[in-house]
Amino acid sequence: MSKTTEKALKAQQVIDLLGEKLNRQIVGSLVACVHCGMCTDACHYVLANPGDVTYAPAYKADRIRKIFKRHYDWTGRVLPRWVGAATISSEEDLEELKDIVFGKCTNCRRCTINCPMGVDYATFNRMARGLLVSVGVMPEGVAVVSKDQWEIGNQMGVLKEDYLDTLEWMEEELREELEDPSVSIPVDAPDCEVVYSINPREVKYDPRSIADAAKIFHAAGEEWTMPSEGWDMTNFGLFSGDDALGGSVAQRLYESVERLRGRKLVISECGHGYRSTRCEGPNWAKQDVPFEMESSVITMLRYIKEGRIKVDKTRNSAPVTFHDSCNNARSCGLFEEPRELLELVCMDFREMYPNRSENYCCTGGGGAMSMSEYTPRRLKSGSVKAKQLEATGADYVVTSCHNCVDGLNDVIRHYKLPMKVTQLVHLVANAIVIEKRVAVPVPVEVPVPVERVPVTVGAAAEALPLAGRRILVADDEEDQLEFLATVLEDHGATILRATTGDEVLELARREKPDVLTLDLHMPGRDVGEVFELIRKDPELEDLKICIITGKPELRRLIYERSVRPPEGYVDKPVDEDRLLLNIRKVLEVVHLEA
Ligand code: SF4
Ligand code: SF4
Repeated sequence: MSKTTEKALKAQQVIDLLGEKLNRQIVGSLVACVHCGMCTDACHYVLANPGDVTYAPAYKADRIRKIFKRHYDWTGRVLPRWVGAATISSEEDLEELKDIVFGKCTNCRRCTINCPMGVDYATFNRMARGLLVSVGVMPEGVAVVSKDQWEIGNQMGVLKEDYLDTLEWMEEELREELEDPSVSIPVDAPDCEVVYSINPREVKYDPRSIADAAKIFHAAGEEWTMPSEGWDMTNFGLFSGDDALGGSVAQRLYESVERLRGRKLVISECGHGYRSTRCEGPNWAKQDVPFEMESSVITMLRYIKEGRIKVDKTRNSAPVTFHDSCNNARSCGLFEEPRELLELVCMDFREMYPNRSENYCCTGGGGAMSMSEYTPRRLKSGSVKAKQLEATGADYVVTSCHNCVDGLNDVIRHYKLPMKVTQLVHLVANAIVIEKRVAVPVPVEVPVPVERVPVTVGAAAEALPLAGRRILVADDEEDQLEFLATVLEDHGATILRATTGDEVLELARREKPDVLTLDLHMPGRDVGEVFELIRKDPELEDLKICIITGKPELRRLIYERSVRPPEGYVDKPVDEDRLLLNIRKVLEVVHLEA
C-alpha cells in the first residue's frame, strides 16, 4: 500500500471513529459556538502569542468542528462552504490536526468556563487526540508513556522491586527521623481504612513525599496500607484521549483496593490522577466503585479538624502562594480545601491572581511535559504563569499536583524566578507536632515476594537503541564495571570508564557523554559532591544520570541535594534486563525533571 493511500485510509478511520464518539455533550459543544470570541483571552497560548489567531480556542475548535460539520451535520452537507465544513484526507491534514490538539492546547478548560454558550473545547480536543492515537498519529512521548502504562502498569516504567525498595527505604528514614522503630509503611495489609495510592514520579523523583505522607498517617493513628501491585493513580488515558487505556488503568487501581478490602482510596496530590481515578475512571472502566475515594488534601485537612494531628504553623514561616491545578480545581472543584489547609500550616499564605477557576495553567497540563517537540512553545506560553508567580513575591509556590510541580519548575527555571515549588504534604509533615508515640493499629503484613519484571522486559531490552550513545560507566569494583560496560557495549553503546569521583568529573566535562551510570561508593572525591557539581554545570545540562548502588540508604545523599534529581537508579545486584530497561527509560522518556 502506498504512503498516500495509507494516510487517506487513516484519515477515513478518524472520520468514522468520530461518528462513534459523538454524544450529547460533545455534539452540544460542536454546534453551540457563535464565534463571539469571549474565550480568546482566556487561553494562555493566545496571551503569550498576541496576534497569532491559530492559538485562539475557537479557531482550534473549528479545525475539529469542520470535520464534524462535513460528515455528521446536515448544514455541512447542504452548505459546506457557508458553515466552514471540510474533510481531511492527507498526511498534512492529520499532521495539522496533531499539531493543534497536542501542541496548542493543554486541555486546561479555562476557555470552557469563559464561554457563555457552554462550549467545552477541552473535552472534544481530548476526543480528537483519541481519534489520532487510534490511528497511530501522536507525539513520540505520548506513544512511549502510553506503552509503559499499558505494559509495566505505570507511566514512568517504575519496576515493582524499585517501588518496594523505595517504600522500605522511606520506612527506614522515617524510623530514624522519629526515633521510633514501630513506624511502618505497610504493604498489602488487608481490611484497612485507607489504601494509599501515589504517582510514580514520587518513587523516582520525590520519595520524600511518600515518607511525609507516612508520617502524617502514623501521627493520625490511621490504619492504612499501600498496594504492592496496581498502585499508580495517574492515568495517561486522560491526556492521550484513549478511553480503553483510561479504563484499564483505573480498573487496576480499583481492583487493588478491592483485593485488599480497603474502605477508602486516598489519592496523593496529583490533579490528573485525582480527576482520572475519582471522576472519569468509573465511566472509562464501565464499573461502579464500591468504596470511597478521597484526595489526600481532604484527608490531611480532616485529620487536623478532627484533632487527629496537631500542627505548628510557625514551622512554615516563609511566604507561600498557591497554584490551583486545572484538573483539581476547574474540573473537580477542589478550591477551598487546600487554602484552608494552607492557613492552618503556614504563617504567610498569599493568593496569586487570578486564582481558583480563573487560574492559568502551569503549562505542563494535558501531558505537555511528555511532548518535547513542543517545549519552546510551552515555555513561551509560560510567560503568563511567570508574571502571575512573580507578582506574589512568595518564596514558595504550593501546588497539589505532580504535573504542575514539573510545569512550574520549568517556568521558574526558564524565567529565572527566585522561587521554589513544594506540595502540601511537605508543609503538613513539617508542621506536624508529634508529642508522644501514637498507638497505631498494626495491620497484618502479607509477605511480598519479589518478582522479576514481566516478559516484556526482554523485548524492551532488545529494542534498545544504544547505537551511537556514549555512556560513562563509573564504578570502583572492577568486575562490576566490566559487567556494566560489556552489557551496554554489546547493545551498541560507546563506553567510557571511570573508577574515582575525580575521573567521573574530568571525563564528563571533557567527553560530554549522553549517560552516566554512577556508583555511589567510590574512592576520591565524594560522589554526592560530584553529582551536584555535574548538575550545576550548564555545559552538562543534557547529561542523564542513572545511580547504581548496593546501598539504597546512600540514595539520600543524592536526593536530598537541592539540584535536579537523577533520571534513574538501579539497585545492585544489577542484571542485564534491569540495566537495559533503566537505561532505555533514561534515554527515551523525554522529560522527567522534578
Ligand atoms: S466563547 Fe464560546 S461561543 Fe464564544 S467563540 Fe469561544 S467557544 Fe465560541
Ligand atoms: S483548554 Fe486551555 S489551553 Fe486549550 S484552548 Fe482552552 S484555554 Fe487554551
